[in-house]
Amino acid sequence: MKSGLQYVVNATEIRVQDQLLAIVASEAEAAQILERVVSMYEKEGTQKGTFVESVTSQNVQVSPDQVVTSNRAFEQLTQVQKPIETYVVEEGDTLWDISLKKNVPFDDLILMNPNAGDFLKAGQAVIISPEKRLLNVRAEGTKVEQVSLPFKTVYKTDKSGKEKDQEGKEGIKEISYTVTIENGVEVARSITNEKLITLPVDRIRIKMPPVQIASAPTSKKSDETEVGNNTFLWPADGGKVTSGYGYRGKEFHQGLDIAGGNSLNIRAGAAGEVIFAGWKGDYGNLVILSHDNGLSTYYAHNKELLVSKGDHVQSGDTIAIMGSTGESTGIHVHFEVRKNGKAVNPNAYLEG
Ligand SMILES: [Zn+2]
Repeated sequence: MKSGLQYVVNATEIRVQDQLLAIVASEAEAAQILERVVSMYEKEGTQKGTFVESVTSQNVQVSPDQVVTSNRAFEQLTQVQKPIETYVVEEGDTLWDISLKKNVPFDDLILMNPNAGDFLKAGQAVIISPEKRLLNVRAEGTKVEQVSLPFKTVYKTDKSGKEKDQEGKEGIKEISYTVTIENGVEVARSITNEKLITLPVDRIRIKMPPVQIASAPTSKKSDETEVGNNTFLWPADGGKVTSGYGYRGKEFHQGLDIAGGNSLNIRAGAAGEVIFAGWKGDYGNLVILSHDNGLSTYYAHNKELLVSKGDHVQSGDTIAIMGSTGESTGIHVHFEVRKNGKAVNPNAYLEG
């Protein structure tokens, strides 16, 4: 080793996953820079972030020209390796369509876009891949959301001559979550509490004939059942349709609501693969099965899920226990049939 002429200074090096990323003047400066990286993604409602990667700093002796300024070190540490990617929603797209189009797991999309909801607007940007930097920041936080609970329409025959129509009113439910945020984007969440704020008030209509109350598995037109192998079993253990497919006031109801029955068992309409089993916004605890011919089925509002993503189920297998999670006013299953991601009338596919 040469010495004497070699001029060295005390400095601090910062390593990420053992890779040397920057050498700065002092330990205090290193700490300040790391603090600056963490606070880049500070968000209301989240705790202080921590680094996803292991970060170490230690004192070294180096030649002065190896020491960089604080700003330069910050840039070196926060280099973007993969920028955030978004997809601009086209008319009629659902998150499910985007999952197929962009080949991004459906549940990842839900997490990265917690406010996307079931109905996306054309032109809206949906995150399909979060950014990755050399050094990434993760923070835990809490989130509280209020969801509205739709009201039912009840048709009554007036026997006394005194009953009156009543306007319906939506109820409110408050859901608390713990969330995990990476570089400012939510990547995981779990429910910690659900609180009912107000119950919905039924809309009452007097003397109107009941509509949309199909008496379950027998009410299909013969031309609609010509779907060959695409028929599904009735997803509940008996019960009846309490709300049909189609317009419900201004809203379009994308499936059948089925309540009652002999047990709370929810059955797989046909053999298939579980492509989603978890919480999804208004759907509450949801199971999505993928079947042949571009068909998928949704079973929503469950109390309990008995399958996991990736499971293969047989027709009629019990996959969940009926409940009232998500935006739901009572115990029922919301059953949807989708063809290439678009909701279709389940009556056309249910076994007669
Ligand atoms: Zn429904």
